Amino acid sequence: MPLYEFFCKHCDGVFETMRPITKASEPAPCPVCRRQAGRIPPTSFAAFTMREGYPRAIPDRGTYWHLEQEVKQPLRGSFRPNEHPELVKREPKRRPSKGEVAIARDKAQAQAKEAKKMRDSGAPIIHDSTGAS
Ligand SMILES: [Zn+2]
Repeated sequence: MPLYEFFCKHCDGVFETMRPITKASEPAPCPVCRRQAGRIPPTSFAAFTMREGYPRAIPDRGTYWHLEQEVKQPLRGSFRPNEHPELVKREPKRRPSKGEVAIARDKAQAQAKEAKKMRDSGAPIIHDSTGAS
């Protein structure tokens, strides 16, 4: 049996119901309020039932819809509109390996050493000319 979509005006939400094709055009009872809901064409899903700009499905699970896929969080921040973080699996930010951490530490130490050498060498050090002392 095909799946059809229905819109409950009372709940302002969309739900899906499986039913035989012969009864496709008949209204279906809303799973929330049990009122009769009219069938809608699937393409109109996003057109009139929105939550913060996202289509809302009933029974309401507190979820959002993004490009016809269910997501837990609405899109926030600076994401490209077609890349919801829950749908587009990004490479997790790679943590530096132990070796890389050691290299970075050695580099910092070498720089500190170099700076100390410069101070100890008596090379002219440029002081803040405002002379607040
Ligand atoms: Zn309803």
